[in-house]
Amino acid sequence: MHVRTRFAPSPTGYLHIGGLRTALYTYLFTKQHHGAFILRIEDTDQERFVPGATEAIYSGMRKAGLLWDEGPDVGGDYGPYIQSQRKDLYLPYAQQLVESGHAYYCFCTKEELDARRAACEAAGGTWKYDKHCKDMPKEEVRRRLAAGEKYVIRQNVPEEGSASFDDVLYGHISVDCSELDDMVLIKADGLPTYNFANVIDDHTMGITHVMRGNEYLSSTPKYNLLYEAFGWEKPVYIHLTPVMKDATRKLSKRYGDPSFEDLLSMGYLKEAIVNYIALVGWNPGDNREFFTMDELIEAFSLEGLSKSPAIFDMEKLTWMNGEYIKNMTPEQFKHTAMPWIEKSGFPIERFDADVICQLLQTRALRLDHMMEQFDFLVRLPDFSPELYTHKKMKTNPEIAKTALAAALEPLRALPEWSAGSIHDCLLGVVAALGMKNGQVLWPVRIAISGLASTPGGATEIALLLGQAETCARIEKALAAL
Ligand code: GLU
Repeated sequence: MHVRTRFAPSPTGYLHIGGLRTALYTYLFTKQHHGAFILRIEDTDQERFVPGATEAIYSGMRKAGLLWDEGPDVGGDYGPYIQSQRKDLYLPYAQQLVESGHAYYCFCTKEELDARRAACEAAGGTWKYDKHCKDMPKEEVRRRLAAGEKYVIRQNVPEEGSASFDDVLYGHISVDCSELDDMVLIKADGLPTYNFANVIDDHTMGITHVMRGNEYLSSTPKYNLLYEAFGWEKPVYIHLTPVMKDATRKLSKRYGDPSFEDLLSMGYLKEAIVNYIALVGWNPGDNREFFTMDELIEAFSLEGLSKSPAIFDMEKLTWMNGEYIKNMTPEQFKHTAMPWIEKSGFPIERFDADVICQLLQTRALRLDHMMEQFDFLVRLPDFSPELYTHKKMKTNPEIAKTALAAALEPLRALPEWSAGSIHDCLLGVVAALGMKNGQVLWPVRIAISGLASTPGGATEIALLLGQAETCARIEKALAAL
């Protein structure tokens, strides 16, 4: 079988994490089977349409590396791939169902429906459409259509029996037809509902496997009645459990949870996000955690999909991001980090970018807010001499004074300012004073950074500051002691 799948987002906002994961799993499955991955934009619900959302979906998917083989803007033999551009295609299918008795025209107005719903609910019932128009004589239907009356076309769900389907994850799902509503297939504006369009499009686009969120589990039996009415072969269904924020609620932009783009702008690497998201709801069956896209394509399996909702853990993502950062080559890291450093406003041109990047790479978990820890290079913070006191290093302000006084001149006299020469010089001071390393290195680091904790030690910081500034800071510290 030639696998054909689709990701079918509605352009109602941004590419959310749940959507991205659905797209990713669909993509992995498809590529593993050398199939075609199709992007379809489901924009028939004009009220929910958000301008710019379609472009956001394209750009998000491209950034994530989920390139579609067919779709809007790349084309394909089954286009158009935007539902609103397919709008004339659906009505004939609905009319075909009317002919075969699986659908009917409905002329009920909103007021009539509201009144009957209210009466039903007042009597304690649960409203569903009462098939009022189902048996309208053909002649009357023709007359009202000719008169230009507004209508919808509804699915004629059998009053008895059951509708069912088989899901790869959830197994056999069956619903009593008596519980199903005669859903609208074609709306009064002539456009299909999502419910109808997805069936027509999946069939006419030759889709073999449908992966989507489990919120569609309860509607899928109705879709299958449509497949049966047309006599079409049904796709394989894989409904995915939701991505959760915690044990009780779904990840949702509404509660401020980040979208894919948000995560990118928070300084997460796209490779790390994609890798992490793959693991939220899918288990490779071994302990592996790090995957490139190609490795994911190879390792992915439907059997590894989780049957219970999986939690999106920001801390885990952050950890993984840090690992991705560490594993870059220094060149890759510098290339990735420099735009962030420049954006931060830090005056990188005044310092050795290679040294800064080296310090960052071993520490950064994210690419944003990385530079705040280097503010002390630009402006020495005020600090209390108490910072010199460190039990383990066996230092205190008294010892610091001796160490700094002894270090100042040798540092000032260094003919060459390099990591090696600074390091040797400081160890020379240690030897000359007969102290422990920490008794010199700790005070020097405090004196030139003003901070108890810094990226890098005395040598790296002195190297970054340069000889003149390092000595000036030591002098200042001595004066304060
Ligand atoms: N347009 C639907 C959504 O965004 C897609 C559902 C499906 O994949 O069938 O949720």
